[in-house]
Amino acid sequence: MRMRVGDLDVPASHTSCVTRSDLMEPTPHGSGSDEHGATSRPAGRQWEKTLDEQFDDAEGLGDDGLLVVAPSGVTPGDLDDLSAELAGTRQAEPAADVEARVRELIAATRRDAPPDHVAAPQDPAPRLVIALDSGSYDEFSPSNVTYLINDTVDAGIVQIIIRRGGIDIALTQLVKPVESIKSRYRDIAAGHEPAEANQLYDSIGHELHRDKPKLVSLCELVEKADLDIPLPQAGAVMCFLDAYPNFWPKLKPAIDGIKFKSTSADERGGGLFDDNCVIHISSLPCTPPGAFARLVVHEMGHALFQTILLNKRRIPVELNEDKVAKLLPADPSERSQRCQTLQSYWNEMSPEAQTYYRAWLTLREHDGRHLHGLDLWLDPCNHRLDPHQRREYQAREFSEFCAETFMLFAMGDLHTFVANIVLDDTVSVAVRTAWRNVWWVLGRVALPLLLD
Ligand SMILES: [Zn+2]
Repeated sequence: MRMRVGDLDVPASHTSCVTRSDLMEPTPHGSGSDEHGATSRPAGRQWEKTLDEQFDDAEGLGDDGLLVVAPSGVTPGDLDDLSAELAGTRQAEPAADVEARVRELIAATRRDAPPDHVAAPQDPAPRLVIALDSGSYDEFSPSNVTYLINDTVDAGIVQIIIRRGGIDIALTQLVKPVESIKSRYRDIAAGHEPAEANQLYDSIGHELHRDKPKLVSLCELVEKADLDIPLPQAGAVMCFLDAYPNFWPKLKPAIDGIKFKSTSADERGGGLFDDNCVIHISSLPCTPPGAFARLVVHEMGHALFQTILLNKRRIPVELNEDKVAKLLPADPSERSQRCQTLQSYWNEMSPEAQTYYRAWLTLREHDGRHLHGLDLWLDPCNHRLDPHQRREYQAREFSEFCAETFMLFAMGDLHTFVANIVLDDTVSVAVRTAWRNVWWVLGRVALPLLLD
């Protein structure tokens, strides 16, 4: 889920979980690994393609290889500069002037936050959609359940055991029970009576079977009839989409599909919103359903919330990583153009986006100590996605903050957290104000995506 700066700007491009090196080397069009190539792009997205092409044209010019503002941010002044640069006739801006402009931009992004928009989270707030099943992660250590899983039925059984917790079976003794539950599940699916009564096995078998229609619904939505992911995970994703029936119709035109069991996301933390607007989700057989749904909704947050908040414009990498100051020691001839690009981008951000960005600058301090981090199990490379990792991750990139806070808000995890922190006298006023402003923006931008 690390996302790429560009995420932000999606009409055209990307998002999600990317490394800084990805940012340094723009991906050529059509290089995504999705199965929906450019030719299958819906007609309604053609304009975006055009913009993206313009974007790429502008991208290589006059900067240091970092991301550039999207076409909508290219002003006539930019084009004049570009022409002058190409013709070799541009007057070099005095270094002191450039430095002053960089400092002015830094100051603008850090200006005092506006007065609180709300005193505290108000109802109606998103309710908890699915409980996060992290209560028994210690009991069934995230890195120790793999050996139990041979297929998606095993995976579903193990996930239910983890979700339930408190089951009086030690991890090392689970092999036989998983086999027995699997057999019971198959009997239930076939409509057979149990050979021998075992209340626990029976109940897990029925729980697994209950989610079967959810997998059918998910297959239809993603237009993949043979999709085979663990039933509890399919159930959890559909639980979110069923809770907000108006969300999918808004998401669908903004993406070119969701690809589950995608290897493209394996090195990206398990989730990726790529340059072709495809959401990739890795095969995550051990990830319990509450965590799995949150990882999926995080990517949906890149695809829709972040895109809308930033008005479909890719955020420059220096803003995304709070590294505008790196322009100060740069060569004046290079940073003059770049500073103008960043200033244009900043000036065209909506009040909501600027408010969100300023709140992030406050909350990202001290490795995001005051951000909200959940325990989301493991990524495909066995990295722990624990609360510290999730906080640090959001602190590093604004785009990740956008996606994660959308997920937390939509899943109902954020209401209590914010309600508590704004009343906590031990927390600085700046942090409390930042969270109030975050809540204000979520109410204006995220809530309509879920409810309207
Ligand atoms: Zn992400």
